[in-house]
Parts: sequence; C-alpha cells; structure tokens
Amino acid sequence: MAGSLPVINLSEAKFECVFGRGCEGICCANGRPSLYPEDQQQIEGNLHKFYPQLRPEARAVVDKHGYINNRRKLGLPMLRVVGGWCVFFNQGCVLHKVGAAEGDSYRYKPAQCALFPLARNAKDEWYVRQHGYEDEEWDLFCLNPQASPVPAAQSCKDEIALAQRYTEEEQALAEYENKPPS
Ligand code: SF4
Repeated sequence: MAGSLPVINLSEAKFECVFGRGCEGICCANGRPSLYPEDQQQIEGNLHKFYPQLRPEARAVVDKHGYINNRRKLGLPMLRVVGGWCVFFNQGCVLHKVGAAEGDSYRYKPAQCALFPLARNAKDEWYVRQHGYEDEEWDLFCLNPQASPVPAAQSCKDEIALAQRYTEEEQALAEYENKPPS
C-alpha cells in the first residue's frame, strides 16, 4: 500500500517542485542521471518516440554520439548533456511528457529522475534529499528545507509510491532468487 514505505526523515523534510514557477528545471541542467540496465532498455526501445521532441542541438549530438555519456557514475552509464542540459530536456523532460501522454509519467524516466528527491543511503534506507542531510552535495534550492513550508510527506506521495513499488519488486526478485529448487 502506498505510504507505508519507511522514509527516515519524512516527518521533518520539506519539498516543493517549482518547475515553471521560477525554476526552469535546474535539476535537469548537468544532472547526468545514471542509467540502470532497465532504464537504458526502456529508452533504447522507444527512442523513436522521444527523438522528434528533442532540441535540434540534442538531436544532432544523439545522431553523432548517442544519448549516453562516455563516463560512468557508480559503475553505471550516464545520460549525455548538450549545451548544459540533459539531452532529453526540452522545456521539461521529454521522457516525462511522452510517458504522461501515454498515461504514466514515470514509464520512460530513469529511476534516479523519477524518484527525485528520494534516495537511498548506504544502509539502503530511503530518505528525502535535503541540504545538510546525508552529506547532500547538490545545492538546488528545492532541497533547502527553509525554501518551502510544504511537507515532503504531502508533495512526494507519487515518488514514495514509486519507491515502494521498486522496493517490493526488488524483494520479490530476491525471494525468487533465494528460493531453493523444488
Ligand atoms: S531524463 Fe528527464 S528528468 Fe532526467 S535529467 Fe534528463 S530531462 Fe531531466
């Protein structure tokens, strides 16, 4: 059930996305999210849907070099950045927009973007990213708990439900893999 996922700092965390209300989508500027194999598979198999909506300069770079950066973060490939913005950014996230038009905004977004501002710490506990918490390095204003009075418990319901879904899928997979052969 959505909402029962333990998120260790949920009672005190504040978060409000102000994209389109003074924020141009700064989390997509130089964000370079890492891609899990499933993220990459989803993007790869549906690239034809996103491609026409990319910025012309992003299309040119994707044509020449692909949408994946040559560097890796945490052992995973990262999305490429063009002109300071993620290749899939064009007045908002194209992956989000295409997914939303099909009825699921998270369908094509890399997990790291879809879950933002949630993350997991070294103990595998979910938490809301906030300045001064868990060595947060990103200085985005939306991660400043002083910037908004909105409780993350209220504003991050969808992200928490998604984190719960991922956690349940992981648990189910682990149970399946640990099951002794019958
Ligand atoms: S994939 Fe979408 S949400 Fe993630 S950084 Fe790129 S444009 Fe932003």
